[in-house]
Amino acid sequence: ADGIGLFRSEFLFMEKADMSEESQFAAYKQVLETAKEKTVTIRTLDCGGDKIIKSPDIIQESEKNPLLGWRAIRFTLDNTDLFKTQLRALYRASAFGNLKIMFPLISCHEQVMSVLKLVKEVQNQLAKENIPYNKDVPLGIMIETPAAALVSDALAKYVDFFSIGSNDLIQYVMACDRGNEKVSYLYEPLNPAILQLISITVKNAHKNKISCSLCGEMGSDPNNALILVGLGVDEISLSTGKLLEIRKLLQNTNKKDLEVLAQ
Ligand code: PEP
Ligand code: MG
Repeated sequence: ADGIGLFRSEFLFMEKADMSEESQFAAYKQVLETAKEKTVTIRTLDCGGDKIIKSPDIIQESEKNPLLGWRAIRFTLDNTDLFKTQLRALYRASAFGNLKIMFPLISCHEQVMSVLKLVKEVQNQLAKENIPYNKDVPLGIMIETPAAALVSDALAKYVDFFSIGSNDLIQYVMACDRGNEKVSYLYEPLNPAILQLISITVKNAHKNKISCSLCGEMGSDPNNALILVGLGVDEISLSTGKLLEIRKLLQNTNKKDLEVLAQ
């Protein structure tokens, strides 16, 4: 692999209660050191929805519509102490490898502004304490709501990269619970509605000179991977078991042919 495309930080806390800065710092540092010069894209906490965290630091009430509710960036922007602790741990670890940070479930410009303000606060505090960190860590947002895809031209002005979260994007575009078998026939990665939104997002990223990767399960299917490259996606984050198969497939194709296929 060229790097790690999606480190789901909430998985650190699913079983283990310790969300302290030190414990997070140790985990991020370990993965960055192990990856050496390769990039590691760590996503900030995406709890709520289908991901329930067992930690005394997180109190999540049950909700009628959890997948449309208080999850991911919506939760962390309302729990700024928790969010800043994670950002501090990430920035401290940035001195030990090639880190990218990305933020999940962005729906609007205001959320991006709030995130960037908190990042600045954390950076200023670390500088004041003389703690080394990389101030140029690329900051990206996940495009996994239809709203974010549709306003991606505006959002691209404020971040260094996009990562399309295909699992959620399909769920929210098709209005189809990704875990509900009764409606799974609607959960169709190659539906033209999904492909159009991916195409819009990639074009807006490139227009603004930022990269657009894709994570989630979609890219692990060989047919989907061919179409994604044809649509201009720059990087695909895969299930590890599919990595060699997809790499081999893509090595034997021509980008121009895939563009025609995608059209
Ligand atoms: C996604 O939605 O595609 C994604 C990668 O995030 P998660 O599956 O963790 O929601
Ligand atoms: Mg997601």
